[in-house]
This record gives sequence, C-alpha cells and structure tokens, in this order.
Amino acid sequence: MLLNIDAGWIEKRLNNGFSKDDLKAVLMSSDREADLLYSAARDVRKKLFGERAFIRAVIEFANTCRCSCVYCGMRAENTQITRFTLDPDEIVSVARTALENGIRTFFLQAAESEEYNAEWLGDVIRRISDMGMMVLLCVGIHREDDLDYWFEAGARKFILKHETSSKGLFEEMKPGFLLEDRLRWLRILREHGYHIGSGPLLGLPGQTVDSLADDLILMKDLNVDMSSVSVFLPAKGTPLQDYPVGDVDLGLRFIAAMRLFLKNTLIPATSTFERLSKDGQLQCFNAGANVITVNMTPSRLRDDYELYSERFYVGLSHARKTIRRAALVETTESELFCE
Ligand code: SF4
Repeated sequence: MLLNIDAGWIEKRLNNGFSKDDLKAVLMSSDREADLLYSAARDVRKKLFGERAFIRAVIEFANTCRCSCVYCGMRAENTQITRFTLDPDEIVSVARTALENGIRTFFLQAAESEEYNAEWLGDVIRRISDMGMMVLLCVGIHREDDLDYWFEAGARKFILKHETSSKGLFEEMKPGFLLEDRLRWLRILREHGYHIGSGPLLGLPGQTVDSLADDLILMKDLNVDMSSVSVFLPAKGTPLQDYPVGDVDLGLRFIAAMRLFLKNTLIPATSTFERLSKDGQLQCFNAGANVITVNMTPSRLRDDYELYSERFYVGLSHARKTIRRAALVETTESELFCE
C-alpha cells in the first residue's frame, strides 16, 4: 500500500472520513508526511479546544492485583514488589495538595485489588468530589452496583484500557480474560453515566499496524471521551521482562491518528514517551495531545506501582514547562470545554 500523504490528502480525510487503509497509512507515514499530520492534528485540536491543555493529578492507591497480565509488574505472580493500599486520609490529603496547586481533576488509579471495597472507595471519592474536584477512576472491573455507588459519590469518568483490539493477542496478554468482556464493560460504564476512556499498549509482542488501525476504529465505535496510548516498556519479574521497548515514533503517529480520526477527545501525553525519548511528552503535545498527568503517588511507594520498570514520574513543574514549550496555555478540564 503506497499512499502519498500531503495536505490535500489529509483535508479530504478530515472532511470525508478515514478508511482502515488510510489509518494504516498514517501509522506508516514517512517523517516528512508525519510532520504534515502533526501540524493538521494541532489544527484540529486548536479548532476544538483552543491552544490549551490541562493537568490532572494521579494517585496510585493500591497495587495488589488478582490478574496476571503478562506485561505488568503488578501481576499476581510477581513477588519482587511490596504490595500496598494507601490510607484514605492520605489520599484525600494528596488531593487537597493538588487542588492547592491549581489542579482540578483527580485521578484515582489502582490495580484490580480486593484490598479495598466499594464503600471504602466511595468514601474517598465523596471527600474529594466535595472539595470541588473532578474525579476520574481507573480501577479495573468490579460490580455493576459499585459503579452506581461511585457515581453517586461523585465520580464521573472512568478509564479502562482495552490494551489491544486483537482478540488472540488480548487473551495471550491477559490470561483468563476475554476482549469481548472488556468491551462489554466499557459499554456498561457508559450506560451507568460515565465518560469513558480507553486505548492500546503499543509495542506488545506480535502486535501489528493492522491491529493498531483496529484499535483506532474500536475507540471510534466506543465513542470514547478520552483516548490514550502508552508505549510498551518491560517490567522486571514478568514474562516480558526481556522484550524490546515499543516504537516511540509509531506512538506519536498513533496520537496524531487519534486526533485526526477521533477529533473531540482528551489525549494525554503519557509518561512512557518521556521515559523513552528526550522531550517525549512535548512531542506528544506537538502530535495533538491536550492533557498531562502529574504523578502524586507518595514517593516511598511509587516504585512498587510497577506498570513498567524505572518509570519516569511526571512532576508539576515538568508538566507546566512542557505545556508552555508546546505553546499551549494551561487551563482546567471544565474550562477546556467552555468557549
Ligand atoms: S495491568 Fe492492571 S489488571 Fe493487569 S496485572 Fe497490571 S494492575 Fe493488574
């Protein structure tokens, strides 16, 4: 497949839509073509959101996991990390610090842990929501009743990464789980009133450009409000610990494809890009991202939240500087959606 991408080609797809072959062409674009795509992605972002980006804060509050995802350092079988669950008062206190620093969106992230229950998390959500913060959850799959409980407590947004749209690869990477169940759960989240987010892990062994194009189509079908891509980095103590890292340049093309194809979605500049490439998160903004997440997990624990080894932890000054260097103005999530 050889499609020469130029400004006219991009304009036509923005007006008439992208086919799967078009998405593959974006992902396989040359450096010169990619520059045009990034520029078009920034234009789409500007039209929809202005030249603005916002910062959210994440706390990773529990790392005990019942799952065995082969790429993740927190898989149940990994005995090389210390397991923890944070105290609710400490979580709320960190949220207050975030708020005092001008951050209005708080992201509660945890492994699929049985160390906390619906009431425990509902209480934390309520206390943070009552401070006037937007609460975003990324806590895996629980019970449908819990979703209502957390919604009533104030949570409005939920991220559940689908990781890969390839059924075979998904089942290899997440033993014991089915892709269709995860997708059904994303639709259930929507039915329970949540704004939903999803996205792939780019660079999994055996993943193809064809399946990455399917990831984009899947996110469009799900009508996600938030879409993201992380680049694979191996975690010690896992079956993939010696596998090569994913391709940052392909990741940047994926971000541009999300902005051009999905358009009105929040796209984070994820830490994996910064870990793998100098100014990696700035490059994400230049490819169409409009969110950056500051890590506020207490430093004594965060190495044990081992999504991958030797993580890059995004600090507030780095986040603000990166937004400025991308020639964007910092705003809050609610203001981003106002004219
Ligand atoms: S990716 Fe999530 S569900 Fe899978 S092992 Fe890691 S923390 Fe658990």
